[in-house]
Amino acid sequence: MKKNDKKTILSASTSSGDLTIGNYIGAINNWTALQDQYNCYYMVADLHALTTPQEPKALRERGLSFYAQYLACGLDPEKNTLFMQSHVPEHAELAWILNCFCPMGALNRMTQFKEKTAKSEKNLNAGLFTYPVLMAADILLYQADVVPVGEDQKQHLELARDLVDIFHHRFGETFSTPDPYIGKMGARIMSLQDPTSKMSKSDENPKSFLSIIDPPKTLEKKIKSAVTDLGTEVSFDQSEKPGISNLMTIYSVLSGKTYQQIETDFEGKMYGHLKIELAALVIETLKPVQDKYHDLMKNKDYLDGLLRDHSEKARATAKQTLIKVYDKVGLYPRPL
Ligand code: ATP
Ligand code: MG
Repeated sequence: MKKNDKKTILSASTSSGDLTIGNYIGAINNWTALQDQYNCYYMVADLHALTTPQEPKALRERGLSFYAQYLACGLDPEKNTLFMQSHVPEHAELAWILNCFCPMGALNRMTQFKEKTAKSEKNLNAGLFTYPVLMAADILLYQADVVPVGEDQKQHLELARDLVDIFHHRFGETFSTPDPYIGKMGARIMSLQDPTSKMSKSDENPKSFLSIIDPPKTLEKKIKSAVTDLGTEVSFDQSEKPGISNLMTIYSVLSGKTYQQIETDFEGKMYGHLKIELAALVIETLKPVQDKYHDLMKNKDYLDGLLRDHSEKARATAKQTLIKVYDKVGLYPRPL
């Protein structure tokens, strides 16, 4: 049922905040590299955003802005299907079905749920708990063969694969089994304020992340106030020097230099020097992205048009899978 011989990819990011340099390095850069070889679906995961507290007006505004951030990072609407999760109702529908076949024990083991609840005890909602099931629905609806994921999402992808097995065992072949795609630039970027935990766009402390649309001055300030480690020497050591190692990782990915080259370049210099150069590099790298973003945001009609066309395209595929699933589980067919 695939459009061509290319394998299918689905990936997404949650619109819980603006894209961070972590998302850019760990996800979007890989996505743009894959857009020629694969049949790609890239989604703004706005339903997932609701698993953490959101202010409705801000969430709604971010929907379009987030979409523009995808385009500004180089995702080409001619080559990819770029859509919004809530515009394709089949996601919520398949998630419900899969929820009914997902063992509670499997969800109890998800480390991201444990991490997120540890951060905010007051936000223990069922959506956060079953989030990986919605993610499985996102993937399975498009019969995705490959899913580019960062380290933090591997366990969720495993669950999607397990759900395929459970479903197939009961009802026979229905979905493609998704394989993880581990990108070349798959580095995990850590929080600037707590370099032992992942940089996340939904972090309550904006100083912990670099947003790709932060103004240059803000980027510079955040990098300068990044937590560093004891000592002064610029050297890569993730356990002893997690702070400086994180800054070196960003520097290395954006400059193409190895850690050893960076250590040599900064020999005899201090952490502050690395921060100044890193800030300049981040600002320079993001300049074309930010320029394109601001241009796109002036053209809301264009963005709305794209969203409509691409969501329709996504829906055509999603519908086929959902009809198959509803039939297999024994729901009475909907009148056409
Ligand atoms: P949230 O705080 O809402 O969970 P997030 O920053 O973790 O946001 P996601 O939308 O959950 O971002 O993830 C989008 C993609 O970015 C995923 O493929 C994920 O693996 C990748 N990613 C997220 N954070 C990082 C990071 N710090 N370093 C590298 N890749 C990341
Ligand atoms: Mg996340």
